[in-house]
This record gives sequence, C-alpha cells and structure tokens, in this order.
Amino acid sequence: MDLSKLQVCDQDLSEALLNQYLSAEAIAVDTETMGLNPMRDRLCLIQLCDPNGNVAMIRVAKGQQKAERLQQLMEAPQILKVFHFARFDVAQLYHTFGVMTDPIFCTKIASKMARTYTSSHGLKTLVQELEQIELDKSSQSSDWGNVNNLSPEQLSYAANDVRYLISMKEKLQKMLEREDRWELAQECFRCILVFVKLDLRQFQNIFEH
Ligand code: MN
Repeated sequence: MDLSKLQVCDQDLSEALLNQYLSAEAIAVDTETMGLNPMRDRLCLIQLCDPNGNVAMIRVAKGQQKAERLQQLMEAPQILKVFHFARFDVAQLYHTFGVMTDPIFCTKIASKMARTYTSSHGLKTLVQELEQIELDKSSQSSDWGNVNNLSPEQLSYAANDVRYLISMKEKLQKMLEREDRWELAQECFRCILVFVKLDLRQFQNIFEH
C-alpha cells in the first residue's frame, strides 16, 4: 500500500493535523490494543482517516492518561466519528483518556441493520462486498505494544482498518434510508456511549429478562 499519505504522531495529534481533521465532516477511527479487555489491555495505537484518505496514527505511551487534541476532535459535535464496532474503540478511548466520543456512526451496527441477507458483518467481509477490496488481516493479532517499532505490515494493516470506513458509511446509510431504517440506526448510534459505560462497569445483559 501507499504509505505516503500516512503520518505518525506520538501521544497526541499535532496542532496542524488537528486543524486539518477539524475541517472534515467525518473522520474514520480505529484503535489497536494489547487485547480485548479494556480493563486489562492497554491502548497502543489510534488510527484516523479523513474523507480525502489522509491517515494519521497516534502512538500511545504506556501510562498516558490524556490526549487533549484527540479529545477535542472526538468530542467535536459537528464531526461524525466513523468506526467499525464502535463499542470497543469508544470504550478504549473513554477508559484511557476520558474521551466521550460523539457523534458516532458504527459500520457494524449499520451493516447488521441494512444487510439482513447475511450474518457476516466483519470488516473484511464488508470491505469486500462494498468496496471490492480484499483486506489482509494477518497482522490483526500481533504485538501492538511495541508501538515504536511497528513493521510495515502492521502499519499497512492499521491504515487499511480506517481507509474504507467513510466510503462504506455512505453506502450503508443509503441502504438504511432505502429500507426506512436510518432513523432507528441513528438512535442506536446515540446509545453506544451508554453501552460503553455499562461494559466498563461490568454490567451485562441488563436489557434481558
Ligand atoms: Mn484495527
């Protein structure tokens, strides 16, 4: 892949990148961590991509508790933050930095509500169907804690996880509108932060009987 549109930052966005991203309507976001449990596994890398394909990666330091420019972007009410399975990344950002991400679009929820003809809602499947691109997920389970020495394969993988999200958001939104499910989808997106807070306090299935 072309790494020329990729910028790597330490601990937070640069002022210039923040301003660039603040002028976008939407920003795609993904995170890489040491594992799936935010209470145990630290956040290592945050990837961002604007609608022009400009990718930035923020390397998170061990023990780091603040990222003020990133927070400003994630909480900016005029900028939609697009994730695939937002519940996980939003939890990581809330747990690590106290960031209250808003507003949110989740391509996984959108896919589940729009693509009811399948039960495959993973990123790889979605990118394949909507963008006709084959993602290489072989770096998915790798050591992201070694964040200052990431391999070209890891950088490429991490960039690809954000590169197609905004384009897929447009397509999924059109499908949801066509099927009269767009309003309900937006209501679901507004609930994500509530699910995140429940997850982080270990509440499970409180909506079940
Ligand atoms: Mn990822």
